Parts: sequence; structure tokens; C-alpha cells
Amino acid sequence: MRRSLIMGNWKMNGSRESAKSLTEAIVAGISNDNADIAVCAPFVFLSDLQGLTDGTPLAVGAQNVADQESGAYTGEVSASMLKEFGCKYALVGHSERRVCYGDTDESVAARFVEAQKQGLVPVLCIGETLEQRESGETFNVVNTQLDAVVDKAGIEALANSVIAYEPVWAIGTGVTATDEQAQEVHKAIRERIAEKSPEIAENMQILYGGSMKPANAKGLLSMADIDGGLIGGASLDAQSFLDIYHSVS
Ligand code: PEP
Repeated sequence: MRRSLIMGNWKMNGSRESAKSLTEAIVAGISNDNADIAVCAPFVFLSDLQGLTDGTPLAVGAQNVADQESGAYTGEVSASMLKEFGCKYALVGHSERRVCYGDTDESVAARFVEAQKQGLVPVLCIGETLEQRESGETFNVVNTQLDAVVDKAGIEALANSVIAYEPVWAIGTGVTATDEQAQEVHKAIRERIAEKSPEIAENMQILYGGSMKPANAKGLLSMADIDGGLIGGASLDAQSFLDIYHSVS
């Protein structure tokens, strides 16, 4: 039986004060034994979050991690630094990183490997654009993004990671994939992994991301291959985020 995971992605939002009060409100509202919960915060807030979440069920993640261990890589933050500040997770390959900052399948795979080397759990984000979906490329695109990591890290590495299927056309747009559209891709991702390891595929947490809100969460989260959500906009409001978390039954 796979456990559900509800994970917020705050992106580049908030202030030190608002991050603290949002964290406190989330921690105060946690009461669901059926799901794990985490937030991925901007780097500069991680120290505060470490103090606020220590000993609570709220796990903390970063939104990116360097593809190198240390050295002359101005502006990057290494996996060991994130570990030191209490992170459990690190997103890798979020579509905003791929589109705006040139992250490639290759660099995403390197980030994945670096995260795991330090004991972080990488959350590998994959998904197609609207153009790719409309031209029938969805499965090719997600397979290619997934294979790049499996080729570099090995299939066994997936056992200590999370996948987030995030159709790019649904991120921040208010347009959500239907329950069936999301389930279809989640199932295909699980089948792709099962070709190499049925056991890892069965245990793998595959989250859905893309305009998940309290109003659509229950349907998405009840699908057989959807094991939780990666939530952007709705995670900036404690009540909305907690409502999604409490939709897991
Ligand atoms: C995201 O940033 O990963 C995301 C899914 O954003 P939103 O929920 O706002 O679409």
C-alpha cells in the first residue's frame, strides 16, 4: 500500500514573515494519518523552517539542488547544504526550471544523483507542454524525461525518490488535467518503471501537479495511480493546502 504525499511548492513567493506564519498555520492543522505532508520553500527561508518544523510531521524540501558537489558554481546550492538545513526533499526538473533556466534532461539527472548522494529524496518533475500533448507526444516526452534519470542513476535509485507528473499546460493556469487524463499518464509512468522493476514501480509515489485545488483534489487523489499532489498556488494559503491534504482518505 503506497502512502500519499501532499507537497507544496511555494516558488518565489512570500517574505520571511509570511513564510513563518504559513508554516505555523500548516503545522497547527496537521491531523491526517493517511498522508505525509511537505513544503518546498525558497532557499533563504529554509533555516527558519528547520526550526519551526523540527519534531513535527511537516517535512521541508528545496525547489532545486546543484548538479555538482561543491566548488566554483556561483548561485548554486549544494545537496549537502540543503541537508544541513534540515531538508528531506529537493525538486529536480520542475518545468519552470526547464523552461526559464535551461535545465536539460542531462542536468536534471545530475541534480537527481547529487541529491541522493547526500541522502535527500529527489522529486523528479516530468510533463508535457500543450503543444506536445496536442501532437500526441505526451508518452514519448515523459518517457524520455524519466529514462534520462534511469540511464544515469540506475533503476534502483528510483526506490528512494518521488516522481511528480506535471503537465506544463496545467501549471499555474487554472486548467487541471481531468482525473482520467492524469491517471492515464500516471499508469503509463508506472508501467514504464515496471518494465525494469515491478517492485519499485509498485512502491513508487507518483504525485500529480497542475492547478490542484480543494475543489478538484478529491477526484484526482482517488485515482489508482495518483499518490498525492505537488501543489503550487493553492499551497500559499494554509487552509487550501490543508483542505487538499485532508482530502486524502
Ligand atoms: C507547481 O508549481 O508545481 C504547480 C503544480 O503549480 P500550480 O499548483 O500553481 O499549478
